[in-house]
Amino acid sequence: MEPTMPLAVPVPLLDLKKQYATLRDEIRAATDEVFESQGFILGPKVEAFEKAIAEYVGVKHAVGMSSGTDAQLAAMMALGIGPGDDVVTSPYTFFASAGAVVRLGARPVFCDIDPATCNVDPEKLAKAITPRTKAIQPVHLYGQCADMDPILAVAKEKGIPVIEDACQSLGAAYKGKKAGALGDFGAFSFFPSKNLGGFGDGGMVTTNDDGYATTLRALRMHGETSRYHHRLVGGNFRLDALQAVVLHVKLPHLDSWAEGRRQNAAEIERRFLEHGGRTFEEGGIGFPREAPGMYHVYNQFVVRVARGRREELKERLTGLKIGHAVYYPVPLHLQECFAGLGGKSGDYPEAERAAMETLALPVFPELTGSQKAFVAYHLAQFSRE
Ligand SMILES: *Cc1c(COP(=O)(O)O)cnc(C)c1O
Repeated sequence: MEPTMPLAVPVPLLDLKKQYATLRDEIRAATDEVFESQGFILGPKVEAFEKAIAEYVGVKHAVGMSSGTDAQLAAMMALGIGPGDDVVTSPYTFFASAGAVVRLGARPVFCDIDPATCNVDPEKLAKAITPRTKAIQPVHLYGQCADMDPILAVAKEKGIPVIEDACQSLGAAYKGKKAGALGDFGAFSFFPSKNLGGFGDGGMVTTNDDGYATTLRALRMHGETSRYHHRLVGGNFRLDALQAVVLHVKLPHLDSWAEGRRQNAAEIERRFLEHGGRTFEEGGIGFPREAPGMYHVYNQFVVRVARGRREELKERLTGLKIGHAVYYPVPLHLQECFAGLGGKSGDYPEAERAAMETLALPVFPELTGSQKAFVAYHLAQFSRE
């Protein structure tokens, strides 16, 4: 039976205005307090938010940073990573995961992904380790943790520290432990499109190690250990008090927003199948899977398009005013600025295939029933053609 065509409604990829509308008064009261205090740099508001994040993630320390990129950079600086060192990471991620490595004069070494999750494939990890490997940085992409047990086992065996790039995955869990509590460091981002998004840039590093925490606090203040005394060379990597209060107002809602995202992902897939949508194996569209033991928070809801038809689907969705984006169209080993590393096409076939097949679709918690119905109907329609 042909399902009836749902009402045409525009569906943005992300609509932050809806979330803001529910918290406007609380956020304005909190930012007003900062304005009145005229205390903008670190201070009690930042400390209170750091404490809340440490508790939420289940770690001893959380250190506010100016962005997720700077969080990664500071974690690597705390490990003393520099020229002559290698950092193993994913070739299929946001640029910063490898950019931070290169900025320190070190070399990113890539480990191909598992196509089922788009996260580093632990079976390929041992091969990427060299005598120069100073850190392993798995990325918890799209809101789902990498398969950490085998990664941590390799790291432990070789005595290599682990930095979790958890920028997309605050609130995600692996076998009951939260992202950012699994490795030696967790790096988080509060970029506005992340599940906990600030009103500008912001980030955080989590760790259970007292020494690392002290070093991170110094590094974000130019390596200052006491006023104008510098034991290390750091940077200006501080989280603003204004961002901290906005994020602190939002934090109690994070889990229910993640639940909303999970339900939206499930509902779109269910409706797709009800409309006779064809799966990836049948030549249609593949939906993301939550791997065993994982809690996926769907920062991005990324499907795979079979038969080389992704560009065609993008055009279709554009015509229907359904938001979408490709995360990421160019794997990192093929980025122009990394040409000097000698990466070439065919080196990481799963990352390269993902770059051609993946497409992120709307999943934000405030999606309406008619928006979900509209997206699911047209995906199903497309998959059958
Ligand atoms: C967002 C993101 C970053 C960088 O965070 P910023 O706050 O934008 O600097 C790093 N890695 C991944 C995987 C990200 O998604």
